[in-house]
Amino acid sequence: MSSKRLVAALLMTAALAAVHPAAAQSPVAVAPEAKGFALGAFTVTALRDADFQAPNNGKVFAINASTDDVAKVLTQAGAPGDAIHLSVDGLLVRTPDHLALLDTGLGPKAKGVLIQSLALAGATPADVTDVLITHGHGDHVGGLLDADGRSAFPKAVIRMASAEWASLRGQAPMKALVEAIAPQVQTFEPDATLFPGVKAIAIKGHTPGHVGYEITSEGRTLLDIGDTAHSSIVSLARPDWVIAFDGDAPVATASRQALLKQTSADHTLIFAPHFPFPGLGEIETAGAGFHWRADVPAHAGAGH
Ligand SMILES: [Zn+2]
Repeated sequence: MSSKRLVAALLMTAALAAVHPAAAQSPVAVAPEAKGFALGAFTVTALRDADFQAPNNGKVFAINASTDDVAKVLTQAGAPGDAIHLSVDGLLVRTPDHLALLDTGLGPKAKGVLIQSLALAGATPADVTDVLITHGHGDHVGGLLDADGRSAFPKAVIRMASAEWASLRGQAPMKALVEAIAPQVQTFEPDATLFPGVKAIAIKGHTPGHVGYEITSEGRTLLDIGDTAHSSIVSLARPDWVIAFDGDAPVATASRQALLKQTSADHTLIFAPHFPFPGLGEIETAGAGFHWRADVPAHAGAGH
């Protein structure tokens, strides 16, 4: 790696850390993986990008609770009590007329392997027609740039909420990314239908224009919840615990509680980008909180 390249890579890592506290922890490289299933006439494929271990130190997760209480919740679920594990994943949605990628992971400069996972699903970056962004944190938009700092999905329309694009444009560490993707960006107002079967859903509080995406085909629905919940254990057992990633904690907490209540009552099929790969399953009520039941629907495969 040339010294110029190295400096650029370090700057990118610093930029990611500035916009997403999880990125302050070194991402752990993982093997690429793609897991797909049929949702009506669509094919939906979870794409693996990276892993994080966030230490249970009271600075990121549950900043309004004790580390002992967090450790108790983790160990009761059979996980180590000293760290919170997060996966980083994207979602590929193949409809009759679109090949949409929902979030892009960290990007190749930060050890993300989403592009290799995309290849396992039988697609190249140039095949992607739409990139749908839940929000502008580095672990969701970092992969919009390739290893050379160019727009990674040259033929795609890049869609995000207008408030999110305004926020991204206002962040100095995101300048290079904003300039590279600007010609491809199309904004929407939340709750817009983007194309048949794909609708953006406002989920307020995490960032100024954070959205989820509702994918519907032939009566079957999948909801990508973005960063409404980060840990499949902690965020569900205690949705009232504040996570440092949330920009407006009271609003984000209320959104999390409302979404968990609604989707558990409706048995909604969920994709959560930070739950253990492939991040597919259902929310169930458990005591005063909730529980994650991982479940890959039938017809799972590599996603071809
Ligand atoms: Zn995130």
